[in-house]
Amino acid sequence: MIKRKSREEIKLMRHAGHIVALVHQKMKEVVEPGISTKELDSIAMKVIKDNRAFPTFLGYNGFPACICTSINEQVVHGIPSENVVLKDGDIIAIDVGATYRGLVGDSAWSYAVGNISEENQRLMKATEEALYAGIEKMRPGNVLDDISGAVEDVAVKYGYGIVRQYGGHGVGRVMHEEPFLYNYRVGDKTLIKSGYAIAIEPMLNRGCDEVVVASDEWTVSTRDNAPSAHFEHTVVATDDGPQIMTKLME
Ligand code: MG
Ligand code: MG
Repeated sequence: MIKRKSREEIKLMRHAGHIVALVHQKMKEVVEPGISTKELDSIAMKVIKDNRAFPTFLGYNGFPACICTSINEQVVHGIPSENVVLKDGDIIAIDVGATYRGLVGDSAWSYAVGNISEENQRLMKATEEALYAGIEKMRPGNVLDDISGAVEDVAVKYGYGIVRQYGGHGVGRVMHEEPFLYNYRVGDKTLIKSGYAIAIEPMLNRGCDEVVVASDEWTVSTRDNAPSAHFEHTVVATDDGPQIMTKLME
């Protein structure tokens, strides 16, 4: 069952989302050639703790860090490590969750490390565009397939692969709630109601759709090693339109 969030829950989610946005603001500052993904994790942890929140990912199904760091052909769920150091020309997707007074905000962003290729700039721009096209459809009276289709149309327009095995999800009291949200049309006519909270998160690839999971049992990469980008916001459907939770509060 999909739970509608109360006004109070939405208020807390907005606070959790603000903390997630603070982490991304910091990541944007510190992502540069020479920094390790472990250092990024420590910085993210400090922002979350300083704001009296809990890093949602830490310990989730045994995940050992508070952010996921996925570089170039890695799609999602990369594990921060002191041995992974960013290089000029990399693109890195950083995914982070914060739990504040029992409510979760979840957001991912892809970042350029130094100077990146035009092809990767285009990939990142397209994936962000797909995210906002999906968000625009997060309105009471639409159905889940409207979001999925909007994401798919942007991917098709640019000629990119769409990751099939992973997608968006309901979010709130826990990170993954019903429903699952595909990044391509599947004919899901589930009606979106006011108060639904969904993490919308397109993952687009410069090559094929297929992905593989590494022997660490976490890191997901493209099968053909083509670069992948990931953008995600936690969004609530309201009668006044889509409300993004995971952005800085004014
Ligand atoms: Mg996420
Ligand atoms: Mg998510």
